[in-house]
Amino acid sequence: MNPLRICFVSSEVAPFAKTGGLADVSSALPGFLAGAGHDVRVFMPMYGSINHDRADMKPVHGLTDIAVDMGGRQVTCSVHETVTAPGGAPLYLLDCPEYYHREALYGSDPDEHQRFAMLCRATLESCQRLQWGPDIIHCNDWHAALIPLYLRTLYAWDQLFNDTRTVLTIHNIAYQGVFSSGITHDLGMAGHENMFHREDFAAGQVNFLKTGILYADAITTVSETYAREIQTPEYGMGMEAALKGRGGSVIGILNGVDYSIWSPENDSDIPRQYSADGLDGKRVNRDQLLSELGLSPDPVGPVLGVISRLASQKGFDLMFGVLPEILAGNDVRLVVLGSGAESYESYFATLQLEFPGKVCFYRGFNAGLAHRIEAGSDVFLMPSRFEPCGLNQMYSMRYGTVPVVRKTGGLADTVKMWNPEDGSGTGFVFDHFSADGFRWALQAALNSFKDTEGWRRLMKNGMEQNYSWNSQGRHYLNLYTRLLSGRPVR
Ligand code: ADP
Repeated sequence: MNPLRICFVSSEVAPFAKTGGLADVSSALPGFLAGAGHDVRVFMPMYGSINHDRADMKPVHGLTDIAVDMGGRQVTCSVHETVTAPGGAPLYLLDCPEYYHREALYGSDPDEHQRFAMLCRATLESCQRLQWGPDIIHCNDWHAALIPLYLRTLYAWDQLFNDTRTVLTIHNIAYQGVFSSGITHDLGMAGHENMFHREDFAAGQVNFLKTGILYADAITTVSETYAREIQTPEYGMGMEAALKGRGGSVIGILNGVDYSIWSPENDSDIPRQYSADGLDGKRVNRDQLLSELGLSPDPVGPVLGVISRLASQKGFDLMFGVLPEILAGNDVRLVVLGSGAESYESYFATLQLEFPGKVCFYRGFNAGLAHRIEAGSDVFLMPSRFEPCGLNQMYSMRYGTVPVVRKTGGLADTVKMWNPEDGSGTGFVFDHFSADGFRWALQAALNSFKDTEGWRRLMKNGMEQNYSWNSQGRHYLNLYTRLLSGRPVR
């Protein structure tokens, strides 16, 4: 296969900036593609939280003071280059302090639309200055979703992009980038208003993600089940008609896992490495996790782990009544790492007060602790309302930490119900989004935990799963080549 020029555009890339799974994917997938010999360049904002003085960060020749018109005002941006990871893909950081030096990656400031229009425009301007014509521009989520529109309008004159094809990957359809229709001037789209979704525009809205759905050459999302779900009113969040309008050709490609980072055999963030053949090490991680977090040692029952954005998507409402019941009736521990909605933060803070020594709520983001929770827990809770792919359940399986999940999206595609009769399955799966469903699955996990031999089998089943980017990345390459050769994408 001839090497492809792939421009990968994302609002977050691990370890530089991360709020969730998008960052992990935006680091690992380009890394796989670069490793397969392709000319991949990743573009992302240079947020204020990124260390600007890294020794390996260099200004890119020719990419300084790129001026982008934002509603009649010139805003400039310069590009610094590093790599996503040692041996990874080149990473181009767009330095524009006016937009990117904010408290958080995302916000609700009045210029939020400009911040990500800048990501799209500065990426295209950089390609032009470098005279680097991508075969594929891979846009991720709403933040990069205006690129296909820009290619058809502001940049349509430039032959550099004549053969460029675009892919839009939807990592989470709940985040769409919806703004008032008064922003078209800022976007440089005055005079092109007819290109936006007509009914939305008439209703006073511009929706970045929907615009991408209208104009990208191919649309993917991050699991097969989610690809089906988002074409229904229940999960489509208002996008189902636009997706169907694309001939229903939404392709589901499950995310991969970067096992060089997420594997207990070589994880340098955990106290003791271990593998499926030497599970004793897991016990050490469990003891140390409880001690690190000040919890009482040696519970008879399992250590339950949660690592998550505290958002309603993740199904915390189901835990409200169930967890106090389980904690009161069993010798278990609960470790929660996350931050987000106030209602969930205060729920877990209260739970910690009610069950001293049994519950630890660590409010915040802590990458190292996330690894230690994966390694030190016995059971991982992920009863999501919806879950495009979910990485934590895949990480958990690799660490022998048995997931309790709801059957939706990527969770449905990756976790199979444990069957003690024939020793098959990798976790505990419930169907209906209800507290009863969650209670049933968690109780089944607690019961199964008592069967030491069976539990070992269950852990090993999970540890043997392989979701590496070597297999998942090939699906993207296949899609790119189909697009470039004009073949149907499915
Ligand atoms: P989502 O992308 O919806 O947030 P995923 O399961 O796909 O969910 O990915 C979540 C990623 O973010 C995982 O790598 C997880 O370890 C990480 N993560 C989430 N919350 C935290 C946190 N508070 N501290 C550290 N890592 C976190």
